[in-house]
Amino acid sequence: MTINPWLVPITSLRRSLGNRRHETRVGRVGELRVADSRLGEDAEVEAEAVLDSVDGGIEVSATIRAPWVGECRRCLKPVGGTLVSEVREMYRPRPPGEPPDQDEETYPLRGEMLDLCPLVRDAVLLDLPIAPLCRADCAGLCPMCGADLNEGTCGCPPPAGDPRWAALDVLRGAVGSGEPGAAGSGPAGSGASA
Ligand SMILES: [Zn+2]
Ligand SMILES: [Zn+2]
Repeated sequence: MTINPWLVPITSLRRSLGNRRHETRVGRVGELRVADSRLGEDAEVEAEAVLDSVDGGIEVSATIRAPWVGECRRCLKPVGGTLVSEVREMYRPRPPGEPPDQDEETYPLRGEMLDLCPLVRDAVLLDLPIAPLCRADCAGLCPMCGADLNEGTCGCPPPAGDPRWAALDVLRGAVGSGEPGAAGSGPAGSGASA
């Protein structure tokens, strides 16, 4: 039988308001995925939590650290890092039969254990990078041949809208509609001598 690392006993904590308990727990929360990044199924997540017995339940403040992996959104190379998430949430007692209240933004407290797992999962989901980059100035892939432009140019013609082509278009336009020398014709008679 495996021990669930996210369960914290709360009986003594709830005996009086103002009681506080520090807990650091490490474990897995299952795979989580957001667009181009994910928390692996085997990833070890750490939660440093402070549990406070307050009026109406238990307030949990936690710092969560989770390793994530993903793909650079421009060059598709593997990227990764550790996200750090700060949360403060309420757990309120809820009888076993009672359906979850959709409007209430709290976690349920059932029996003598508080389950940190849903809080940790929600925090990681919120902070997984949606569109990660391998580095801020990643040049990405050539849209024509797929070459990695971080490793040099590929020789494909520049895509439409490239500034170099825009300059050519301006030159062509000038030739096409050119009416050279339409400005003032001839020496305007000035200073006619009498
Ligand atoms: Zn990249
Ligand atoms: Zn190319």
